[in-house]
Amino acid sequence: MNRKIFLKTLTFGVASTGILLSACGGDAPKTESATGTDAAASIPAGADCNDISALTDAEKKQRESVEYVTKSVTPDKFCGNCRFMQLGTQPNGCPGCQLFKGPVYPEGNCKSWFKKDA
Ligand code: SF4
Repeated sequence: MNRKIFLKTLTFGVASTGILLSACGGDAPKTESATGTDAAASIPAGADCNDISALTDAEKKQRESVEYVTKSVTPDKFCGNCRFMQLGTQPNGCPGCQLFKGPVYPEGNCKSWFKKDA
């Protein structure tokens, strides 16, 4: 096999492997669903996603009613993979939650967690 044929074969092999991996979902892992990393990366540097000073007492009570915590104790259930989290909806660039007012951390969790569709 000469060099030109070898390179063509190699190129085809690499390209077809990528096509096959994409077809079966084997490309790069989706970090947001696995760890919330993508969502965490969207937060502006220095943003405090636990600042609820602008909320009314009623809004704070609503937040407390779902028992939100800034760090999930359940490894596979956190705001970053919950269907109710909304990226960048808070004035400081933090994610919000559809169920209550104020920012949340992607690593957070509450008792209303519900798996986000893939
Ligand atoms: S429902 Fe709970 S887990 Fe889901 S985004 Fe809101 S606070 Fe996070």
